[in-house]
Amino acid sequence: MTKRQFHNVYCVGRNYAEHAKEMGNAVPESPLLFMKPSHAVVPMEGELALPGGAGDIHHEAELVLHVAKPYAPGARVEDLVDRIGLGLDLTLRDVQSELKKQGHPWLPAKGFRGSAPLTALFPFPGTERVTNTEFSLRKNGETVQRGFARDMIFPLQTLVDFIGSRFGLGAGDLIFTGTPSGVGKVSGGDRLELYWDGALLGALTVRLQ
Ligand code: ZN
Repeated sequence: MTKRQFHNVYCVGRNYAEHAKEMGNAVPESPLLFMKPSHAVVPMEGELALPGGAGDIHHEAELVLHVAKPYAPGARVEDLVDRIGLGLDLTLRDVQSELKKQGHPWLPAKGFRGSAPLTALFPFPGTERVTNTEFSLRKNGETVQRGFARDMIFPLQTLVDFIGSRFGLGAGDLIFTGTPSGVGKVSGGDRLELYWDGALLGALTVRLQ
């Protein structure tokens, strides 16, 4: 895959009630946002080197939006987003727990190199279709996460309005829209595969370094 350039990488935390519950978190009243450096984005293919010796690494399978043009108030998702894909918001969970305890930013836990594998993108098929299509993650052949965008606490339109009006959205920005329940540990040698509507979009093998 040729090198792709993305700009701002926004991520939504706790956007599925079942996931908030499994992590022991309250359901947020407005979108919980954080960012990853664009350098975190790597193709969902081949072998991925991840930090070893930094505690547990968790997978979070997420629907990802690619923004095509600048946000303006009243813009509809269909007009702003030209393509979508699936991604992994890889998280150093033990590091994140420690950062939370200390009240520090999440960057070391969420923004390390390779922390945002992304499949090939495909044309946005309309909100209705995106909302009602299952996406899933298989680990070593077993489905460990599955979700529907219709179960998001903050739907796509709310997310783009919230992010666009406060922080801005422009061509090349990505939005990782949050993970459904089923997050779990990633180990060296694991094979991770992301599926959209039963079709394999991207796969990688983890190597710890
Ligand atoms: Zn996430």
